[in-house]
Amino acid sequence: MPKHRFLLINPWIYDFAAHDFWAKPLGLLYIASWLRRSGAEVYFLDCLDPHHPKMPFEPGVKQASRRPDGTGKFFRQRIPKPIFFKDIPRYYYRYGLTFRIFKEELENLPRPNAILVTSGMTYWYPGVFAVIHFCKQRWLGVPVILGGIYATLCYEHALRHSQADFVLKGPAEKTLFPLLEQICNFKPDYLPQMEYDPDAPYPAFDLLRRLDYVCILTSRGCPFRCDYCASSLLFPHFYQRPPEDVFKEILYWHKHYGVKEFAFYDDALLVNAREHALPLFEMLIKSKAELHFHTPNGLHARFITAEVAQKMKLAGVKTVRLGLETASPKRHDQKLTREEFIQAVRYLQEAGFTKEQIGAYILVGLPGQTREEVEETVIFAQRIGVTPRLAEYSPIPGTKLWLEAIKKCRHPIDKDPLFHNNSILPCASNSFELSDLKDIKRKIWHASCKQAKSVLFYKQKERGDRR
Ligand code: SF4
Repeated sequence: MPKHRFLLINPWIYDFAAHDFWAKPLGLLYIASWLRRSGAEVYFLDCLDPHHPKMPFEPGVKQASRRPDGTGKFFRQRIPKPIFFKDIPRYYYRYGLTFRIFKEELENLPRPNAILVTSGMTYWYPGVFAVIHFCKQRWLGVPVILGGIYATLCYEHALRHSQADFVLKGPAEKTLFPLLEQICNFKPDYLPQMEYDPDAPYPAFDLLRRLDYVCILTSRGCPFRCDYCASSLLFPHFYQRPPEDVFKEILYWHKHYGVKEFAFYDDALLVNAREHALPLFEMLIKSKAELHFHTPNGLHARFITAEVAQKMKLAGVKTVRLGLETASPKRHDQKLTREEFIQAVRYLQEAGFTKEQIGAYILVGLPGQTREEVEETVIFAQRIGVTPRLAEYSPIPGTKLWLEAIKKCRHPIDKDPLFHNNSILPCASNSFELSDLKDIKRKIWHASCKQAKSVLFYKQKERGDRR
């Protein structure tokens, strides 16, 4: 019997800004590995591929680039803004391959039994729709299945507008395989589990053209329930993999593919650190492998002890991101006090992390938030010696803050997910303008330049280089 064949697609991003800060479609790559384990032939088409050999020769494209830590810029093309963003003084882009190259890639692929399209931020749905449109043009009658974050959080919108034949909500473990059996008689040899499965294959990162880094999930879900966060809507449980298992996966990518940069994708890496993260860091230290780790999803400052900080440093953690959110006592929900945050930063500094390595995520544009509140938090972060990283708030349907966001928002966020775009600060108070945000960013930038200059000055002085 011929093998079943599936095409998996990571769609374009449509946005004012997008950077590859260790951004890979991890869920889709897990699905690819389950399908392969079940004996299927799997094809992967990455619209965001920064290494496509033909892209540098495409007209009208800004080039992609890479930094040593694997992050970088996507290819991008400027495109017209959606009409209701006409007053936003920023350019709008499609990030990733040109349509021409995407269509050429589709032409070169054999007809699949089904196409699986993932989705990211809710306001990136135009990229998802474009992918589905081109797939339908290419192969009449091949079912298109849409899943991922947008499909889960804006299920009704996706059902109504995406043109996908099937829209799946929530974790694919439950829904995807029964659907594939129903629509193309695919009988898998392997069934993914909702809990930790020692037999689960690693995500199929080998399908990528080049491995700048690998994303690692040591746990799934989050035991906390922050008002603005969608974590529990996307995966309602929380489990952790045994550290030995995670360690083996890291070494696998390093030994077989030469990967040195790893990004932890966990929502709660340091929860239960004594049984989970600490043994993992110890194994990494003992291995003496020269690996670098990054924590783009943020760490809970409350769980950073002196021991955790030291072992993170020795294990090779290079990028530390802490969720500070806001230093305003008015808004604090007791998840984290200022004192706890200061203590965590002290431990990190004592372990040898620099100001550049420690970034504090500061939420900007919360419902009704003012410029003063953000500035107060930025100053707090700078005073204690960490780099402020502004994270613009995007309202998310189904979260606790959603109803308040609808009330306070200047745009109809419940009508069209395009208005969830955090770049337009959809929910900030009326007095908080985009120009204020630009101004705050400029001040942060100036402060970091000043700091960099003085560090250079003292280094030169130490070396006796100054005349
Ligand atoms: S913001 Fe972080 S801690 Fe809070 S629920 Fe989301 S993932 Fe968990």
